[in-house]
Amino acid sequence: MTASLETTDLRKAFGGVTALDGATVRFRHGQVNALIGPNGSGKTTFFNCVTGMIRPDSGRTTYRGADITRKAPHAIARAGIGRTFQLCRVFPRMTALDNVLAAVRPGGVLGGLRGARSRAQTDRAREWLTRLGIEHLTDVEARNMSWGQQKLLELAGVLMADPETVLLDEPAGGVNPALLDRIGTLVRELNAEGRTFVIVEHNMDLVMSISDHIVVFDRGRPIAEGPPSMIRTDERVLGAYLGV
Ligand code: ADP
Repeated sequence: MTASLETTDLRKAFGGVTALDGATVRFRHGQVNALIGPNGSGKTTFFNCVTGMIRPDSGRTTYRGADITRKAPHAIARAGIGRTFQLCRVFPRMTALDNVLAAVRPGGVLGGLRGARSRAQTDRAREWLTRLGIEHLTDVEARNMSWGQQKLLELAGVLMADPETVLLDEPAGGVNPALLDRIGTLVRELNAEGRTFVIVEHNMDLVMSISDHIVVFDRGRPIAEGPPSMIRTDERVLGAYLGV
């Protein structure tokens, strides 16, 4: 299988704190990949570097063979990489439908709801809301939804851009068990339809049940990788988590 998203020796320091310390990682096309590791091990910084939100001090990122290291976030999104955020980015005073539509307008919400609302886009937005099981919230403002529903809403917005690779930052964080199941099932379904995933997640049950491949970070770089069956029993992984 071909490498889809690949980083070589990514380094990033914030003042004296080394967040990424030579992260060389390959995520394969067509797989559900998980990126796990203790708090502070560099997972979010890795996502931020890969999506162009922060510049690494050195190193390289390629996507399907093309160098995207210094590209702007919108260019990386256009190349086919979508992402959600740990703290969930939705517009609280906008309805679910408007949130999903805002996600694809040029210039985001600043592009304006005043812009012509294409029928095709509205139909597609409704389809994603249905697919994610939140169609009953179409006209509800995001601030009146549960945390888990807001996360699904954010994901609907990401999927509107039809990304072939989706980075999810803690999709299960703060989500109730019923929605958690739905997120797991959705990821597997969307993967079966051809989308590649990279998921930062602390919920090990979810990670172990949906991942094909797991990369474990510790102190800014991968220390182990492999299928769930291997990672579950890897001593370096246990050591990184338990600090032994
Ligand atoms: P993780 O997502 O695995 O919890 P992070 O990438 O958030 O790890 O953080 C890695 C390290 O970099 C931590 O020590 C964190 O405190 C530090 N760090 C991350 N972002 C910043 C920032 N913007 N300014 C200063 N330090 C940061």
